[in-house]
Amino acid sequence: MNVLASRRLGRWATRRSNSYWKRFRCFSSSCTADFVGEAEEVHFPVIIVGAGPVGLVLSFLLTKLGVKCAVLDKSPAFSRHPQAHFINNRSMEVINIFLHSSEAWFKDIQKLQPPLDFWRKFIYCTSVSGYNLGSVDHMQSQDFEKKISPECVAHYSQYKLIQLLLRKLENLGLTLCTPDELQQLSHCLLKDKRIFMGLECTSIKPIAEGIKVGACFLKEGKLEAINFHCSYLIGSDGARSTVRKLVGIKMQGEHNLKNLISVHFLSKDLGEYLLHKRPGMLFFIFNYEAIGVLVAHDLNEGEFVLQVPYYPPQQNIEDFSSKVCEEIIFKLVGWNLEDVQVKDIKPWVMHAKLQRSMFHAMGESFLWAMLLTASHPLVALE
Ligand SMILES: Cc1cc2nc3c(=O)[nH]c(=O)nc-3n(C[C@H](O)[C@H](O)[C@H](O)COP(=O)(O)OP(=O)(O)OC[C@H]3O[C@@H](n4cnc5c(N)ncnc54)[C@H](O)[C@@H]3O)c2cc1C
Repeated sequence: MNVLASRRLGRWATRRSNSYWKRFRCFSSSCTADFVGEAEEVHFPVIIVGAGPVGLVLSFLLTKLGVKCAVLDKSPAFSRHPQAHFINNRSMEVINIFLHSSEAWFKDIQKLQPPLDFWRKFIYCTSVSGYNLGSVDHMQSQDFEKKISPECVAHYSQYKLIQLLLRKLENLGLTLCTPDELQQLSHCLLKDKRIFMGLECTSIKPIAEGIKVGACFLKEGKLEAINFHCSYLIGSDGARSTVRKLVGIKMQGEHNLKNLISVHFLSKDLGEYLLHKRPGMLFFIFNYEAIGVLVAHDLNEGEFVLQVPYYPPQQNIEDFSSKVCEEIIFKLVGWNLEDVQVKDIKPWVMHAKLQRSMFHAMGESFLWAMLLTASHPLVALE
């Protein structure tokens, strides 16, 4: 959204709002704190809810355009559990358009990602060291000839992308406000160009001057509420968006298509082995003892994620301890990795859902978007 477009949007929204105010109501999530009358109210022209790749790219863009914004994220810290790793052409185009290819930022991804030959293949096998059922080179000539897109796809873990973005944002003067700093709640902290970690958006209410946003954070084990006031609110809070739910935008499609356990682990030995014997990005492994998809995030660093299907209610996440996950890894790899380190175990669910609208006018505007899944808009991963 450029400045001109946002001004037009603002004028349109204000005209529309006149009739809206007469029937406004407060939107709030049922489980958390609502607006607190006496609480401090801080004003930002734009509030972005969610510091994922979308929220951070957007804050970068707005700050470059001179639009003051603040970002709220309910997580106290950025996750190091790798999620996305394959960045499609469209996302690279967006990154490039927004952040300009002349910026080292964009070149960093190309430079920092593993060499193409390490990740161009999908491999189907009975175990990492076992029988090779087949392999597919998923890179096609169109990926290199730049006929369908001016940008090449990339292989780079989402948490590394986030770190890269944070460094770029810091150069623009946007800094992180940690939950500890937030607890001080001094007014000087509550200014724009901040990414407030551990601050959850819980309610939204149109008011004559814009939008009132209720948020809460944990202070000494108790929920503390704070109110903000903004002209524009942008929900970039992921597949389970609170903003989307608060404004009543529905999702359509299939629910709970597949439940998976995602095991983030490190093993230099496995990385070494694959680099020399069978480099690839995804390993679809099937044998009598286990099945799973091994995602090679970085063979040089020996960083992997194993996706294992599981079947609730017969199984649940507690069944997948580090020990159990190690055993599954060994069965799929084909030998006991001495240096395996399980970092994190998380469940996730695959849905095939589409949001009815990306925009909700409530006096001012709401926008909700997903950057990384631009070429797979039907898939929402939680
Ligand atoms: C296992 C897995 C593998 C994936 N692999 C790929 C891949 O290879 N390629 C690809 O393109 N995509 C992939 N994806 C999808 C990709 O991760 C998402 O599309 C991407 O994270 C969306 O970015 P986002 O910024 O929209 O949302 P998110 O990354 O989900 O960020 C949303 C942020 O909003 C915060 N938030 C939520 N609610 C609130 C609230 N009420 N108040 C404040 N903050 C809030 C959250 O804490 C979070 O930090 C994968 C996803 C998973 C789970």
